[in-house]
Amino acid sequence: MDDLVSRAPALGLDEAAACAREAFGISGDPSLLPSERDQNILLRTQTGTRFVLKIANPMEDRAILDAQNAALAYVARGTALCPRIVKAIDGSDIAEVVSSSGIRHFVRMLTWVAGVPMGSVSSHSPELLEDLGRKIAELDAALDGFDHPAIHRDFYWDLAKGLDIVRELTPLVADPGMRALVARVADKIDFRDAPGFAALRRAAVHNDPNDYNVLVSDHRITGILDFGDIVHSYAIADLAIAVAYAVLGKDDPLAAAVSVTRGYQAVRPLDDDEIESLLGLVLLRLCTSVCVAARQQQQRPDDVYLSVSQGPIAQTLPVLAALDPAAVAESLRSARGRSWEATLAARRRVVGPNLSVAYRHPVKVVRGSMQYLYDHTGRRYLDAYNNVPHVGHSHPRVVQAAVDQMLLVNTNTRYLHDGLSTFAERLTDTLPHPLRVCYFVNSGSEANELALRLAHAYTHRRDVIVLDAAYHGNTTTLIDISPYKFNGPGGEGAPPWVHVLPLPDTYRGKHKRDDPRAGEKYAEFARQVRNPSAFIAESAPSVGGQIMLPDKYLASVYAIVRAAGGVCIADEVQTAYGRTGTHFYAFESQDVIPDIVVLGKPIGNGYPLGAVVTTTEIAAAFDNGMEFFSTFGGSTVSCAVGLAVLDVVQEERLQDHAASVGASLLEALRQLAAQRPLIGDVRGSGLFLGVELVKDRVTLEPAAAEASDVVNRMRERGILLGTDGPFANVLKIRPPMPFTLEDADQLVAALDEVLA
Ligand code: PMP
Repeated sequence: MDDLVSRAPALGLDEAAACAREAFGISGDPSLLPSERDQNILLRTQTGTRFVLKIANPMEDRAILDAQNAALAYVARGTALCPRIVKAIDGSDIAEVVSSSGIRHFVRMLTWVAGVPMGSVSSHSPELLEDLGRKIAELDAALDGFDHPAIHRDFYWDLAKGLDIVRELTPLVADPGMRALVARVADKIDFRDAPGFAALRRAAVHNDPNDYNVLVSDHRITGILDFGDIVHSYAIADLAIAVAYAVLGKDDPLAAAVSVTRGYQAVRPLDDDEIESLLGLVLLRLCTSVCVAARQQQQRPDDVYLSVSQGPIAQTLPVLAALDPAAVAESLRSARGRSWEATLAARRRVVGPNLSVAYRHPVKVVRGSMQYLYDHTGRRYLDAYNNVPHVGHSHPRVVQAAVDQMLLVNTNTRYLHDGLSTFAERLTDTLPHPLRVCYFVNSGSEANELALRLAHAYTHRRDVIVLDAAYHGNTTTLIDISPYKFNGPGGEGAPPWVHVLPLPDTYRGKHKRDDPRAGEKYAEFARQVRNPSAFIAESAPSVGGQIMLPDKYLASVYAIVRAAGGVCIADEVQTAYGRTGTHFYAFESQDVIPDIVVLGKPIGNGYPLGAVVTTTEIAAAFDNGMEFFSTFGGSTVSCAVGLAVLDVVQEERLQDHAASVGASLLEALRQLAAQRPLIGDVRGSGLFLGVELVKDRVTLEPAAAEASDVVNRMRERGILLGTDGPFANVLKIRPPMPFTLEDADQLVAALDEVLA
C-alpha cells in the first residue's frame, strides 16, 4: 500500500489536457481534483460540459480498472448516481498515457456528476442522512448480481480483512491514547463481532462511500463516486462505511447512524446478522482508517488529504466505542420505515383528520415489550396508559398462540372447533352464575351493540339509562348512548330514548366521599326512568375520569332498574381481568351480578376481540329466528389468543400483582399530593388510577391545560400517560399489568419533577 500512495501519478495539467484531447477527443480546461492513490483531473469544455480524466496509479492492476468500468456500466442500468464511462477514440474503455517522467499510466474518462462533497456541507439534517442511506441502498441494489474476478482480491480496505490490517498497523499510530483505543476496540470486535461477521452475506460493494465520495445538491444525495476500492466483501460494507463517515463530528452519532440505516432499510431491509454486525463494522472501518492513515503519514507526511478524517475520528471513535452494542442493534433494528416527519405528513394527508394523535410531539412507535414501548430512535417509554396490552405489549406467549393458530387455520364459527368452546368455557368460569352464555365479536363497540340488542330482544323496550360522561363505543347507536360524545364537540345531544344519570363522582359530584349513603343517593336518579330496556355503565367509569363508584351504588341502581323491568349491563371493556386488583371484574367490588357483561380491549391483548356474556334466559330471547353471525368474531385465531391471554393472566397472577403494585403506587401518589397543590384527588384501585388536577382545592376548578402540559412533559421524560374526565383534567394511569414497583417509582419521581 505504501507504494501505491507514494507513487500516485503527478502529471502536469497540460500533459493531462493533451492526453484527454488525443486519447478521448475531449478538449477542456483542466483542474486538479483530490485523490488518494490516483490523479483525477476535471476538464471543462467550451460548452461548459464537464468530464473527469482519471489517471491510474502505475501500480494499479489493469484488471481492477476493468472491474471498475464493468461495475460502472452495470450500475448505470439501475441508478443515475454514478458517473458513466466515456470511450476513447479507438473504442476502448481504457487508454494509456506516458508521463513526461516516462511512466506509463492507464487513463479513463468519466462523465461529471453534479454536487458538492457531503464532507464539505456544514450540517447534515436527519433527512439528508436518511437520503444517504437510501442512495447507498440504491447503489447496492444496482450492484446486485455484479461480479468480476478482480474484485475477489486481497485488499487492505476490505472490511473482511480489516481486523488483520488493524492488528498489523496499530503500533504505527503515533498518538498513545488513540493507539490504546484502537487496540481496545479491535479486541472487542475480535471477541464480540468477528464470529457474527463470518455469517454475513457477501456481495460486490463500492467499498468507499465516504463523505468525499458522496455528492450533495439541493439537500439531496446526487452522486456516489470512485469505484477504486471495489471489492467482494460483506454486503453491508457500503452501509457500514457510509455510516462510519456520516457519524463523524455529530453531536449524536447514534441518531445519525439510525437515520442513515433507516434510509437504507427503506430500500433494502437488513437481516438480523447484519443489524448485529453494523456497529462492529463501523468501528472497524474507523480503526482501519486510523491505522492506514498512520502508515501513509509515514510515507507522505505533508499530504493533507490523507489525514482529512483523522480529527473527527479522534472525536467520534471514543463515543461510538462506548455505546452499548445491544442497545445500538436495537435502535438500528427499529430503523425501518419512513422518517418521523414523513410518517406524520402521510398520516395527515391520507388518514381521517379527526383521528387524534397523542402528545405535542407524537411518539412514533416501532416496538413494544411488556410495559415498554420503543420509538423509531430506539428510545424506551414506560407505558403507564394503555390497558389494551393487558398482559404486556407483544407478550410472547400470546403472539406465539396467534402465530401457531394462524399457521394452522383461521376460520369462523360455522365449523366445530375446540378453541371456541374451550375459550367460552374458560371465560364463563371466570364469571358468576348465571352468566353462562358467550358471544364473540371484534371490539368493545360491537360487544356493546350486541348487548343492547340482547336487552331489546329480552325486554322488547328501547329506552336506555346511562351515566353522564360515559363512552361506550363508536357506532351510531353507541354514540347515541355516550354523553361523552353526544354532549361533546360535534355532538347532537341525547336522543329521547336515552336517559342520563349523574356521574356518581364523590370528589366533584353532589354527594361526597364523606357521605356513607352517597351510593344509594346517586342511585335514586334511576327511579325517574320508566320502562327502561337497559341500564349500562362501566363498573368503574374510566372516560368519566377514573371514577370509583361509591359503595352500594350498582346494587341500588340494579334493584331499581330490574324492578322497572330493565336489564343491567356492565361495560367491563376497561376494567376486566383483574385490572382493579381486588376482583377479576370491577362489578364484583360492587356486590352485583349483571345480566350482561361486555368485554373488549384486554381480553385480546391488542388482538381485536370482544365478548358478551349473558344469562341463558336472555340468550334464549335473542334466539328469535334471526341468525347472529360475526365474520371474525370467535375465529379460531381470536379464540387461541383469548385463551392465551387468560392463561397468562391467571398463571402470572396478574390480579394480585396489580393489587400490590397499585396499592404502593396509590400511596406514593397520595404522598405526592400532600406536596403538590395542583393534585386535587388521587383515586382508584389496582392498576386503575386517576390523579385529578385542580387549580383550587376548594372550588375544584379543573386544571385542564396543566394536565395536558403534565402529560406532555412526562412524555418528554419517557413516561406515557393520558388525560380524561369531563374536564380533561384527570391523569389516567392504567398501565399494562406487568408494571412493576420500580416503574411506579420512576413514574412518581418524574411526576414530582414535572409538578415542581
Ligand atoms: N366501552 C368502553 C368503556 C370503552 O372505553 C371503549 C373504548 N375506549 C369501548 C367500549 C369501545 O371499544 P372499541 O374501541 O374496542 O370499539
